[in-house]
Amino acid sequence: MKRIGAHVSASGGVANAPKNAANIGADAFALFVKNQRQWSAKPLTQSDISQFKANLVSANIKPSCILAHNSYLVNLGHPDESARAKSFYSFLDEIERCESLGIELINFHPGSHLKQISEDECLELIAKEMNSLLERSSNIKLVIENTAGQGSNLGYKFEHLAALIAMSKDPSRVGVCIDTCHLFASGYDIKDEQSYTKTMAEFDKIVGFKYLSGMHINDSKGALGSRKDRHDSLGVGLIGEQAFRCIMKDNRIDEIPLILETIDETIWADEIKMLRDFTK
Ligand SMILES: [Zn+2]
Ligand SMILES: [Zn+2]
Repeated sequence: MKRIGAHVSASGGVANAPKNAANIGADAFALFVKNQRQWSAKPLTQSDISQFKANLVSANIKPSCILAHNSYLVNLGHPDESARAKSFYSFLDEIERCESLGIELINFHPGSHLKQISEDECLELIAKEMNSLLERSSNIKLVIENTAGQGSNLGYKFEHLAALIAMSKDPSRVGVCIDTCHLFASGYDIKDEQSYTKTMAEFDKIVGFKYLSGMHINDSKGALGSRKDRHDSLGVGLIGEQAFRCIMKDNRIDEIPLILETIDETIWADEIKMLRDFTK
């Protein structure tokens, strides 16, 4: 079965996220467990945690269908050691929040070399930080998101994701999230059945479907290979509806959170309904 939702607001407290998801007919969702643009935040209270869990039960959403998104500030591949440490502790705080909320998956963008070190050196730094994060946590899975490849961001090739998995001391606690907008913008075509099949076969060969732990379902304003990270509403952008039909018919993508990060949240309920119709 497909589990479909959106990256919902947690403003006013994390306990609001499951409610916001239920309101749009979602059975999966993403959220930020703290303000995504600030380094620090006050700790979650016992009441935040119990309300979150109670609202999750009311919304009838399984913890395995929640994909937290980490802060935009974190760069595990930062060439500067103290900046990297700051990222590490911020990410660790988010992981601890997830674990206290019973969230099993947190997704993050691999990192950026800032043109100061090579891609390989940057990937090694990221893998080292990921291993330390896994050592200091127990249940969370670190879910690496592919990127559009804007600026000096890594993660725009399947090989980057595979390299990070290969360097992990515990690959069973590492997953990947494919963002369809980023995929297309980084040069992997999925516009029609033929290109979708080819790209996904390449993904399976280089990374492996067993690592696929979630997807971000977005259309793209940027062209194929443009390396521009500009999301669009489904069927409106340059990817088009057919790709989303292929995803919804693909049984390798069952039971993982499929998350809209499309630009018009007023139509999320309609987009979710459309995606569910594509599964039939
Ligand atoms: Zn992301
Ligand atoms: Zn995304």
